[in-house]
Amino acid sequence: MNKGEQLYEGKAKKVFKTDDPELLIVSYKDDATAFNGLKKGTIVGKGVINNQMSNLLMQRLEKAGVPTHFVEELSERDTLVRKVSIVPLEVIIRNISAGSFAKHYGVEEGIVFDAPTIEFSYKNDALGDPLLNDYHALALKLATAEEIETIKKYSFKVNDVLKAFWAGCGVTLVDFKLEFGRLSDGTIVLADEISPDTCRLWDSKTGEKLDKDRFRRDLGGVEDAYQEIMRRLREHV
Ligand code: ADP
Ligand code: UDP
Repeated sequence: MNKGEQLYEGKAKKVFKTDDPELLIVSYKDDATAFNGLKKGTIVGKGVINNQMSNLLMQRLEKAGVPTHFVEELSERDTLVRKVSIVPLEVIIRNISAGSFAKHYGVEEGIVFDAPTIEFSYKNDALGDPLLNDYHALALKLATAEEIETIKKYSFKVNDVLKAFWAGCGVTLVDFKLEFGRLSDGTIVLADEISPDTCRLWDSKTGEKLDKDRFRRDLGGVEDAYQEIMRRLREHV
């Protein structure tokens, strides 16, 4: 399958048409951004890692009953996916306090929750991805009530599967962001990516951050952290 016209260039990926109107090619870049694009940089090798990690995790999720956009890994950076119309909601699941949760509610990072939380933000860069609840999403017609229920059900399932998987790699899944989309027949599937860019992943023993927070917070060792998390994953697939 060959790349056709470029449809979109985002912050982390490019999206291309293919000969099949139902399929796209996503191409992962090494570009890194944070704080809604205010901080920019490059993480050498990130595109390859995010592509391969996302594909391995999505295949695992498919087996566990979560439909995804994944079709075929074409090369180190390129993947064939089912074209969806993205539901403009970023779904965030948290198992442990960190990042904006800790900031908003004035608590320390690292509090383990009794049960995972879910929150939505409106995927809209111009507005800075504001938080919203189900009622707001319905009012704005971002998704139907049935779609929101499906998205929640799949998101908690993703958490169950990935939490257990990462635990086996000696990694704690702190929180992550998911995006869903509609196939041409309206079926909801998991889309976009699951990677150290979109998840917080802490070494279970030392608490060391093995994700994009190393870039966001200028902690150093960014490339090494991406390599290390991919090495842990490879050992367990
Ligand atoms: P951003 O748009 O936030 O800068 P990216 O650089 O990752 O993000 O760009 C990839 C874009 O492709 C995102 O807008 C994402 O929602 C979208 N996307 C991901 N998977 C699919 C898919 N299967 N079909 C259509 N669009 C997709
Ligand atoms: N996240 C993401 N894209 C975003 C916002 C958040 O992938 O636009 C991920 C982030 O990597 C983390 C989780 O979602 O794993 C929760 O992020 P949080 O709300 O704490 O925001 P942040 O601290 O990144 O501002």
